[in-house]
Amino acid sequence: MLRNSYSFITSGPFSISCIFKPMSELKNISIIIPVFNESASLPALFSRLDKLMLPNGMNLKVVLVDDGSTDDSAHLIERYVTGKPACSAIFLSRNFGHAIALSAGISNIDSDADAAFIIDADLQDPPELLPQFVAKMEEGFDVVYGIRKNRKEGLLKKICYRFYYRLQKKFSNIHMPLDAGDFSLISKRVVKELNNLPEESRYLRGLRSWVGFKQAGIDYNRDERKSGSSKYSLRSLFKLAFNGIFNFSEFPIRFIGMVGFATILLSLVYIGVVIYKKLVFGTVPEGFTTLIFAIVLFSGVQLLSLGIIGEYILRIFFQVKQRPLFIVKSKITNGKINNE
Ligand code: UDP
Ligand code: MG
Repeated sequence: MLRNSYSFITSGPFSISCIFKPMSELKNISIIIPVFNESASLPALFSRLDKLMLPNGMNLKVVLVDDGSTDDSAHLIERYVTGKPACSAIFLSRNFGHAIALSAGISNIDSDADAAFIIDADLQDPPELLPQFVAKMEEGFDVVYGIRKNRKEGLLKKICYRFYYRLQKKFSNIHMPLDAGDFSLISKRVVKELNNLPEESRYLRGLRSWVGFKQAGIDYNRDERKSGSSKYSLRSLFKLAFNGIFNFSEFPIRFIGMVGFATILLSLVYIGVVIYKKLVFGTVPEGFTTLIFAIVLFSGVQLLSLGIIGEYILRIFFQVKQRPLFIVKSKITNGKINNE
């Protein structure tokens, strides 16, 4: 077993492990790491990977996915991977985004891999937790995901994440664990099912829940990013958040229907009041301001509704194109360069 200085607690609704049949021992594990402009983090990552890969009874492989980095990351990856049979690298033709880079990684793991361990390149998810994830999977789970107990991030970001995950859970058609990111160990059959999903708009942690099987969470403290800055722009964070909601819920579109219905009811009541006042008191209500307010409010409601419908149409639009999820520029497989 590997040495490990990180504490963990098992939790989540699926944590009653004793009723599950233990899995056969996991030996071959591929570690998938998406990389986008991480030249500042890579040296530390490589040295921690080297320690993790010291003989430990497991057969670990590393699959680094360069997601179109524009800094020195691709060179650093090439240097690290070349000549190491346990390491592979995939260089994408441009920046496709974190979720797609992960998809590229899991569709390129060795055919004999028993499981894939997904971590970030910035070391926010400690790779040394792998033995705990493996031990949990051996209890009979197909997915073991990390639950972020303590985020070392700004207060505003923490509040937004907390609020978002709870909102998403309320809306979603499937059980998505709270505060769980992509940091996870997924079994061979989950990898296979994920690779078979044709979705263009990929929200991997959602698809991972959608796939099903037995899933369990492990609490961990999410470290601070050691170097560089987050590679998620505000725009890509919003895109991720929208994917999490619109890809797994029809609630927003139902909500529009409910708002429309409530508005009709409200206007019927109002018409009743106006007719009553006219007949009984002979007055009609005045109110230019109220009129303007009503027009502005309901124009807003209509535009918002159109936007929500648009989110679904956009997903159909991109899906029907049937473009490949990513394009591979070159590969280093088991330490050997292999240009496509
Ligand atoms: N990443 C990627 N492509 C992107 C953005 C990010 O491959 O377009 C990688 C990044 O290098 C890192 C992981 O995805 O390994 C998570 O990104 P980041 O740490 O910036 O996200 P955060 O932790 O801030 O949510
Ligand atoms: Mg990070």
